[in-house]
Amino acid sequence: MNASQILTDVVSALSTGAISVVDLTAPLGPDTPVLYLPPQFGKNTPKFKMHRISEYDSDGPWWAWGWMELGEHTGTHFDAPAHWISGKDAPDNTTDKIPPRNFVAPCNVIDCSMEVRANPDFLLTADGVRAWEAEHGEIEAGSWVLMRSDWYKRNSSTEAFLNADENGPHSPGPSVDCIEYLLTKDVIGWGNECVGTDAGSAASFNPPFPAHHLMLEKSRYGLASLCQLDKLPPKGAILVVAPLKIVNGTGSPVRALALVPRS
Ligand code: MN
Repeated sequence: MNASQILTDVVSALSTGAISVVDLTAPLGPDTPVLYLPPQFGKNTPKFKMHRISEYDSDGPWWAWGWMELGEHTGTHFDAPAHWISGKDAPDNTTDKIPPRNFVAPCNVIDCSMEVRANPDFLLTADGVRAWEAEHGEIEAGSWVLMRSDWYKRNSSTEAFLNADENGPHSPGPSVDCIEYLLTKDVIGWGNECVGTDAGSAASFNPPFPAHHLMLEKSRYGLASLCQLDKLPPKGAILVVAPLKIVNGTGSPVRALALVPRS
């Protein structure tokens, strides 16, 4: 293997379009949906806000710049192990400590869009993953598993994206046995198109919020509010996704990019 030649080939494939770059990131602005916790928890993340410092005016005649009010878990974002109590003592558990090697990894995309169209509370189970593997090949160690639901098409409306009623939120995600199974495959993390990595109904699971509780406990990661998973093949794409190096960060907005070979 000539590593230098491989990188040269990648650059050349990017320029010819043999490899394309697909943006899996939602727009980040005041309309970006953010999670609202049940009233007993009190505090929530405020909506994204850009404060303009200057815009080619008396505060800065030649320059425009701003500062942001922004949640760690707002928009398309990365969950670090320290986000959950189960991961509070996990190694390298904050955004500043995660080895950069972990920010580039293959991804498996499991298409659940048909099931979710029929049932917004749809859960992907271990059996569902095994059936997908029988068709597309085994999930390899160190890879991401991303649940395609086409839920991102709702992300211009907080109401449609959170999809809550008096019984709580209704959105798809993984079952407990799904996450347990993926950990036996030694995956690097789990991604979802919804506001968080877990299903809307996941507070009632045992353990509650398995994508958080079980993945982060094992120093694996989460990705939430992913977009355009419908533009990815089931296998063969490489995900490049890195949180900001926030000191003691529990998560971070990301620009999530997939390198996709032309089929
Ligand atoms: Mn999060």
